[in-house]
Amino acid sequence: MVSDDRVVLVTGASRGIGRAAATQFAERGATVIVHYAVNEAAAKQTLTGLPGTGHLVMSADLTDADAVAELVAQVVAIRGRIDVLVNNAGIYEAHPVLSTGYDEWRESWRRTLETNLVGPANLIHEVVPHMVAQGGGRIVNVSSRGAFRGEPECPAYGASKAGLNSLGQSLAQALAPHGIYITTVAPGFVATDMAAEILDGPRGDGIRGQSPMQRVATADEIARVVVFLAEPGAETTTGAIVDVNGASYLRT
Ligand code: NAP
Repeated sequence: MVSDDRVVLVTGASRGIGRAAATQFAERGATVIVHYAVNEAAAKQTLTGLPGTGHLVMSADLTDADAVAELVAQVVAIRGRIDVLVNNAGIYEAHPVLSTGYDEWRESWRRTLETNLVGPANLIHEVVPHMVAQGGGRIVNVSSRGAFRGEPECPAYGASKAGLNSLGQSLAQALAPHGIYITTVAPGFVATDMAAEILDGPRGDGIRGQSPMQRVATADEIARVVVFLAEPGAETTTGAIVDVNGASYLRT
């Protein structure tokens, strides 16, 4: 096992994939910042489950640009550095084009893009100068299969993740000369709160059947790929978008 003494900021670590990633980084020895939006009790539960010491819980609404800047400033003030940023937090809201009123449609687009795309971009902007000063760093963005396969009920979500993919590719080129490497993980459905209503409902079996494995991924399985991409030795994956969807959607 790799011994990891890095400071890792995982957004959306109160639950799901973020909690699993926080746990796996901590198991390798990293100091983890457990970020959340509103669910303080769940974030503290993540913290309690982390092996090691020095971990912190911090909240920031990713749609609030000032709060994002303050989050990074606080982490650096307390822990002195940020070696790895995992842009994992996100929302998945339905707003079908034919049945959503114009006000609700615009609000859903705004909220989704600000949370899933602009928030991560702002975090990167604030974190990167510290990584440059430290001599490098890693960023892993959690995207989605929906960016490629389409999201008929949640078009803003699909668009936000396609934007996140492009953001990662552009900044991989911009930042590699500074020793900062950026990768993207694109999961299919994952058994977390986000997908629970769909997976437990009438569409659940059909979704599990999209994969020849006849199941969706666990949060731990996605986290394993996140951790791998941030590990020393994985530098040349920079710019990659890694599908983790159990062959439910294959692209060439
Ligand atoms: P989840 O269980 O719903 O957890 C979402 C996390 O994001 C929570 O920690 C939540 O904090 C945080 N969050 C939500 N809105 C926020 C905001 N405005 N500001 C800051 N934090 C916010 O999600 P998940 O399933 O683990 O998904 C994690 C990532 O994987 C997301 O980017 C998602 O799009 C992607 N993904 C998920 C699936 C899936 O099927 N689950 C598939 C593909 C991709 P609170 O707990 O405080 O609300």
